[in-house]
Amino acid sequence: MTASIPGMRKRSGVLRADTINMSHGGGGKAMRDLIEDVFLGSFDNAELALLEDQARIDLSALTALGNRLALTTDSYVVDPIFFPGGDIGKLAVCGTVNDLAVGGAIPLYLTCGMIIEEGLAVSDLRRIVTSMKAAADAAGVKIVTGDTKVVDRGAADKLFINTAGVGVIPSHLNVSAHNARTGDVILINGYIGDHGAAIVGARGDLAIENDIQSDCQPLNGLIKNLLDACPQVHCMRDATRGGIASVLNEFAISSGVCIKIKETSIPIRSEVRGMCEILGLDPLYLANEGVVVVVLPREHAEAALESLRRTEGGINCALIGEVSDAPECTVILQTAFGGERIVDMLVGDQLPRIC
Ligand code: MG
Repeated sequence: MTASIPGMRKRSGVLRADTINMSHGGGGKAMRDLIEDVFLGSFDNAELALLEDQARIDLSALTALGNRLALTTDSYVVDPIFFPGGDIGKLAVCGTVNDLAVGGAIPLYLTCGMIIEEGLAVSDLRRIVTSMKAAADAAGVKIVTGDTKVVDRGAADKLFINTAGVGVIPSHLNVSAHNARTGDVILINGYIGDHGAAIVGARGDLAIENDIQSDCQPLNGLIKNLLDACPQVHCMRDATRGGIASVLNEFAISSGVCIKIKETSIPIRSEVRGMCEILGLDPLYLANEGVVVVVLPREHAEAALESLRRTEGGINCALIGEVSDAPECTVILQTAFGGERIVDMLVGDQLPRIC
């Protein structure tokens, strides 16, 4: 915190406790110390430092960027809260940034609502908040307002986070799940299933150990490059819970088209494929936190792939399929053995509390 931010009060609170207790959600001095020390100290921006009940955002700065406001919210309940490649804080920032970016929006501001279980180590909370700030900086967004609640032991599991996000969509873009057309192709930016596999490994409850890292990352930089190169993108969605199978079904149903993908074209690590085979999981439904599925006219495919390859998160990009008119609202997989099968929406839950 610097004294140069106009209107900012001097931070005074210091949190001395080792674990969070009920008083940290009580609205009094202990909560103030928690907010000032842990949240203001880390997130460090002028909007938050004013400690109003709401962040105030200059409208003219927003309208200069586009003609539509994008608003999204997501709650994060991942178990465990620390996993290879990330933690619940990084996930909460990246997930909300990505939900804005896949609509073509430039992500700008995030909120942070925390529901903390009594007994959470303050060191764990600090680590998570630091990780949120690092992810926000990487994505170029600010966490400008928030809320903290503490609940009794057993009423939550360590920590749940809700992040809402605001962004602006430039006027020349029209990205929607309803826009897939016959002749379009399907692109993906990288390996599928890494997040799901990393969480399974981190839980250890299936006696599976692996070195797979979650792909958790902000995609807005990669998506901006893509849209600069190819503003003609028709559909875009990040394939989180439910995997790429769910996203492709959403496109097929919303657009009333058939999407055919080729199993041998889909990038997947051999460790992830192996883990899926052992556990009987289908990698098409495995969660990702850094994978975007893109639909665009075939004539722009090469330019799009070239643009993706220039960004670190897109080095392993691939063209995995195409759009046709029938059978409508259907996703078909051409298998590695030359057969075909329908890829349906997921029924039930493959892995609970994955994000
Ligand atoms: Mg999403």
